[in-house]
Amino acid sequence: MRTSDPRVVVGLDNGGTANNATLLDASRRFLVDRLVETPSRVLEGPKVAVEALAEAMENVLALTGTDPGRVAAVGLDTPGPASAQGVISSRGATNFSAPAWRGYDFRGAFEERIGLPVIYNNDGNAAALYAHHAYFGPEEAVLHSSVSAIVGTGLGGGVIVEGQVVKGAAGMAGELGHVFIPMDGLIGEGQSVPGCNCGFVGDVESVASLTGIEKNLLPYWLTRYPDHELARAESIRKAAKLVRGYGERGDPLALQLFEQQAMALGRLFTIAANFSDPDAYFVGGGVVEAAPHFRDWFLTKVREHTQLRAEQEAVVHFALVPDLDMAGSRGAAIAALETLPPL
Ligand SMILES: [Zn+2]
Repeated sequence: MRTSDPRVVVGLDNGGTANNATLLDASRRFLVDRLVETPSRVLEGPKVAVEALAEAMENVLALTGTDPGRVAAVGLDTPGPASAQGVISSRGATNFSAPAWRGYDFRGAFEERIGLPVIYNNDGNAAALYAHHAYFGPEEAVLHSSVSAIVGTGLGGGVIVEGQVVKGAAGMAGELGHVFIPMDGLIGEGQSVPGCNCGFVGDVESVASLTGIEKNLLPYWLTRYPDHELARAESIRKAAKLVRGYGERGDPLALQLFEQQAMALGRLFTIAANFSDPDAYFVGGGVVEAAPHFRDWFLTKVREHTQLRAEQEAVVHFALVPDLDMAGSRGAAIAALETLPPL
């Protein structure tokens, strides 16, 4: 694309409390280098939330002094489950609890509201797309493939092939959290096989997520360390949030717990290696938003537990998902930019 191309795209990351907005120009330069947040108001239902998205867009344009006439498309991402076209699941979704959200065409409604093309991705896929482009750069991105795993409340992420998000027939590709992994040698002595909110037993998210820590890992490790300070926390939910701080300080319980998470991600990446042999594996989320020594330890452990062939070892990259709080909006913007026809 020529640098004289005046077009810009807006990226909007729709979260439970805030919309995070960014702006990308046609030369692939982000015009915003920080979080630009406005209330998402998703709890107030779809109509209010669509208006809130429009406000988020107007706000980032005003903030950067950008003429709204230059906006050629908008990228939108939300947490799932939703279809590839941005229709919220008919069974509802955590962030979209009001009945009016069920089966709601969020992307379509927003597109109608603003009269511009809106390109949808789920938040895991958008962050994966940003990680991929940030790592390889705009020129090289199309030459490479990657798998991103982002450890949050659940386990999100995405699969990128030749610079593009793999969405799948129903929009459900890249649901890495619900891939089964072998539990043999991962779970400790007397530890039961962990269950996931999705109903599966022994998938990646059942171990590698905050929910997994709270429901599965921490209750087990506290039986092994009954005198641990975390056993006296007000609730298991609070204790689960504190465990990363213990990991940073080298606490043995926390390190064993996080090694289980690293092993789960390594086993997921081993499956990916045999499935599509990507160039790069990216890890993101709270566990790597930690002190550098702990973050590096975790990434090293993930790599140790990823079994690659010698030919793969020679070319593979392991890295962190950068700028995690902005990765969704930035990935959404990249996806929108890629849909623009040449001028
Ligand atoms: Zn699951």
